[in-house]
Amino acid sequence: MSLRRLPPLFAACMFLVLAVGLTGCTRETAAEHAANVYAAQELAAAPPHGNIPDYSLSPSDLAKAQHLSTVHETLHFGNEAWEILSLLLLLSFGAIARMRNTAVSVSGNRWAQGYVFLLLYLLASTILSLPIDLYAQHLSLQYGLSVQSWPSWFGDQAKAFALAWIIGGLLLMLLFWIIRKLPRGWWFAFWCVSIPIVLFGIFVAPYIEPIFFKYQPLQQTNPALVAQLEQVVEKGHMNIPPERMFLMQASAKLTTLNADVEGFGASKRVVVWDTTIAKMTPDEIVLVFGHESGHYVLGHIGSTVVFTFAILFVTFYLGFVFVRAALRRFGIRWGISSQNDWAALAVLLLAFSLFGILLEPVESAYSRMHEHAADVYGQEAVHGLVADPQATAVGAFNALGKTSFADPNPSPLYEFWTYSHPSIGRRAAFGKAYNPWIPGMEPKYFKK
Ligand SMILES: [Zn+2]
Repeated sequence: MSLRRLPPLFAACMFLVLAVGLTGCTRETAAEHAANVYAAQELAAAPPHGNIPDYSLSPSDLAKAQHLSTVHETLHFGNEAWEILSLLLLLSFGAIARMRNTAVSVSGNRWAQGYVFLLLYLLASTILSLPIDLYAQHLSLQYGLSVQSWPSWFGDQAKAFALAWIIGGLLLMLLFWIIRKLPRGWWFAFWCVSIPIVLFGIFVAPYIEPIFFKYQPLQQTNPALVAQLEQVVEKGHMNIPPERMFLMQASAKLTTLNADVEGFGASKRVVVWDTTIAKMTPDEIVLVFGHESGHYVLGHIGSTVVFTFAILFVTFYLGFVFVRAALRRFGIRWGISSQNDWAALAVLLLAFSLFGILLEPVESAYSRMHEHAADVYGQEAVHGLVADPQATAVGAFNALGKTSFADPNPSPLYEFWTYSHPSIGRRAAFGKAYNPWIPGMEPKYFKK
């Protein structure tokens, strides 16, 4: 079958694969089911945005959490809508076409044209999104979630801008080269080359992040903790040597807690924020590490990569269809002659923004599935290492939620659409009830 004949059915099949992937991987044990039922009941009995028994905030913190939840919800969807509207405005008022004209007039060299066009486009989109970004940072400072000075914040924005320009420029040159060579099949060809590019991106991410935060070997700063964490490592028959454990100096800019797994192959590592170490008990840190090592052991980086390629496949195909249809309809009005035109990039980005919103709940559900699995793994992994895994889980989720004023019971739609993790309230209630070691129950990942 030739590329041009690839039917829309093909894209529909990928949607189906995604849907089956989402439902098929969630084999639920009896202990897990019981704890999920308990969490659902606790949430159902609590008022929206109100405290739930296993994750409760003081009245003043609850008021902050409610306000932040409402603002974040508005900012999130407002930002997505603004992204689309601002692209439409730039196209309609001919701003994108003028950027192309400037780029083409600067030089006959395609590399110079591509980089000038991208620079102008990034400048425009940064200025247009600046009010929302400034307000979000102001809010973080006001609520004490961030302690970063404005000069340092602007410095980070500048670094992110430079990275987007340099790396984005290379991708732009590659994309337009492929579009010229394969006018009808470029979406498929670009998807194929995106596979090694994404893998390389995940591989180098741990080497790029030190541009924004300082990292140190955890062994250097917290040797006693490393010894404790190695117990979790041994229990899971993992191979995470102490050299793969890092401390991130988050406290220079943030007050919130976190830990994650980063990288791929030789760059794969576990990163714990120093704020987590400062604000959690040793048992709670071990539990958080248990969760992170769950991502590592359960192969979440690998399966997320596969999932991302399925999402990209759908996005590139729909992007291809959208660009052709939009240029046929509005090309003359926008001053864009063909998909070879640098200005067509804005139309493709418009398509990515539109389909990104529609795919967001699919991505969120996929991520929540992994996060839940890691919660189950973490709580099982610390069994026998901490005195009371259930109480430790409740303590850890309370610490996590209180430092970020997390809404105990967010609106179900917002949670479904955007949350990469189950809500803190749901996780705390699940952790309190999850005990697979009692008679009649089976652990999911560690045999009794
Ligand atoms: Zn996680």
